[in-house]
Amino acid sequence: RGQFELRRVDFTYPSGTSALRGVSLTIEAGRTTALVGLSGAGKSTVLNLLCEFYRPNAGQLLLDGHPLGDYDLHYLRQHIGLVLQKNHIFKGTIEENIRYGNFRATQADIEAAARQAYLHQQILDLPLGYGSDAQQLSGGQQQRIAIARLFLKNPPIIFLDEPTASLDAIATEQIKNSLDAIKQGRTVVIISHSLAQIFDSDCIYVLKKGEVVEHGTHGQLYEQR
Ligand code: ADP
Ligand code: ADP
Repeated sequence: RGQFELRRVDFTYPSGTSALRGVSLTIEAGRTTALVGLSGAGKSTVLNLLCEFYRPNAGQLLLDGHPLGDYDLHYLRQHIGLVLQKNHIFKGTIEENIRYGNFRATQADIEAAARQAYLHQQILDLPLGYGSDAQQLSGGQQQRIAIARLFLKNPPIIFLDEPTASLDAIATEQIKNSLDAIKQGRTVVIISHSLAQIFDSDCIYVLKKGEVVEHGTHGQLYEQR
């Protein structure tokens, strides 16, 4: 379970910008699907629709064969982990930011998640440890908070919108390692503007100006060039 399908989806933002036109794509359960394309191609809009932040103007959005609108929104969001480029830290402590409403998680769970995000030791080195203000962390550390949150939530569906776009090489490498560990067996959609970053995806869709222009494995797309 966890297979999404877009069938001839059109979407125009309330502002009047046409972002998707006739987009059909399949996101296979338990696999990694990449969306690539230039800025403004419509990649983030696909994720916005899959999270039901917006509804399509035309076409169909299916999850495991059923219209996405048939699912309870709360139920759906419980099963989705979302990591954006940045700006996901709220005012509060590191612990609160990793916990993110996950009230059943114990301190040990939170520390295990931080460890998997290569962040535990760095947090312990801070004078206030897990009680430190999360907003004082560097961009790379804040991104690893988002990854720790993902490990703690442990959702079957993961959406990644350029998760390493604003990071230096070391932070990028660590976050890739963390993500490789959590991707196994889950439904993952990753957005990237570069083919090199998503070479290990099972299927790649290339978007251009709101349309899917080609799709296939990394090898297939590479050979066409
Ligand atoms: P990408 O993720 O590929 O960079 P987006 O999906 O963000 O592309 O954007 C697709 C189009 O929709 C662009 O023309 C963009 O300017 C527009 N757009 C994106 N988000 C919004 C929004 N919240 N309101 C209005 N227009 C938007
Ligand atoms: P595996 O099959 O290797 O366990 P998973 O994708 O199930 O792979 O999990 C990836 C990693 O995330 C594992 O090391 C697992 O222990 C860890 N993990 C999963 N859920 C949580 C959680 N809620 N808190 C901390 N770590 C978790």
